Amino acid sequence: MIKDNVPIKKLKYCRRCCIPETQEGVEFDEFGICRPCGSSEDKMRINWKEKEIELKKIFDEAKTNSGNNYDCILPISGGKDSFFQAHVLTKVYNLKPLAVTFSHNWYSEIGFYNLQRCLQVFELDHLQFTPSRTLVNKLARKSLGQIGDSCWHCHSGVGSFPLQVATNFKIPLLVFGESIRENHGSAAYSDDDSPKYDRDYFNKISAKKTAEEMVDESLSAKDMHAFRLPSQKDMEQNNVRGIHLGDYIFWDEEKQTEWIRDYYGWKETIVEGTYKGYKSAECIMAGMHDFTCYLKRGFGRATQQVILDVRKGLMTREEGFELIKKHDSVRPDALDYYLKITSLSEKEFYEIMDNKKVNELKGVELEVKEKEANNNNKNRMYPFVEQIIDKHLNSKDPRIKKNRD
Ligand SMILES: [Zn+2]
Repeated sequence: MIKDNVPIKKLKYCRRCCIPETQEGVEFDEFGICRPCGSSEDKMRINWKEKEIELKKIFDEAKTNSGNNYDCILPISGGKDSFFQAHVLTKVYNLKPLAVTFSHNWYSEIGFYNLQRCLQVFELDHLQFTPSRTLVNKLARKSLGQIGDSCWHCHSGVGSFPLQVATNFKIPLLVFGESIRENHGSAAYSDDDSPKYDRDYFNKISAKKTAEEMVDESLSAKDMHAFRLPSQKDMEQNNVRGIHLGDYIFWDEEKQTEWIRDYYGWKETIVEGTYKGYKSAECIMAGMHDFTCYLKRGFGRATQQVILDVRKGLMTREEGFELIKKHDSVRPDALDYYLKITSLSEKEFYEIMDNKKVNELKGVELEVKEKEANNNNKNRMYPFVEQIIDKHLNSKDPRIKKNRD
């Protein structure tokens, strides 16, 4: 038997796609095929016409109940899903959503453009929350030791802020994009037990720690206000519920992305650590997030995109493994920015990550490749709003003076 040319010899990979056993919650059947591969087959057998009738019913009800208020909340980042969600809500179902953004405060220039373009082209009213730069930097540092990536504030804020808006503005329906059944290790289209949207959804899926658990001597309970979830009682009294369009509409990320790009002017950008430019294009730290995933679990963004392409038959499993080897282990430029804002040394960073390694990888030396020279990424790898401030500020920053005194 020919031995697979897998990226990390010690790990078991799905026989059909390239998912390793270290993906959170992933299960393999007796043929060594992962649950998401099974789910992608289930997806073909779903009666999507019926699902769309269900969706219409939900939206009709929301319109009837909303009176003069907004019909629903559209949580958006400006990413590709945001455009698709906005299209479905405003153009297909003729709803009046309130667009709500929790800003991670790490917007790239293209990401900033995409969000503004989305608001413009769909004529959306918009509410945005942005935590202060200092708070973001503190949380980014704490996040690494707590959950093994840089992005707790984003994982948590995208969950809590739209819910605060839902309860405070009395807009009970939240409409998200991609279904968890699309590509989560332990969820499947055929499975009613897949994680459902509720108050703690983002805590369970990505944030892992509550706002209360992040409080320490440098982060007060007051600092954490934006990350706090409404009470269960508040949720129930306001009848808050969330749906994912991907549970009602056949989801095809690739096709949707091409279409919103060509039709609505959404733009891709360079995303570190992978071969496509459309996932998390709005954030300068995407490559950092995915690199920490690689150091923890032995795979990064290229793997996550390859498995979808292999399942769709766009490439073979072997071609997928080659792309993974080329991209996942490359040290991202965003790491420089991360070290700067957290004052961690690179050595400290790798020590923390070493402690976060899953058991299957203990004792395995993971290769880290330097990025090939002659990319002009570096000057792009700090937040766009900081770039604007640097460009226009022509007096001394009083904060720097104060620190020196
Ligand atoms: Zn698979």
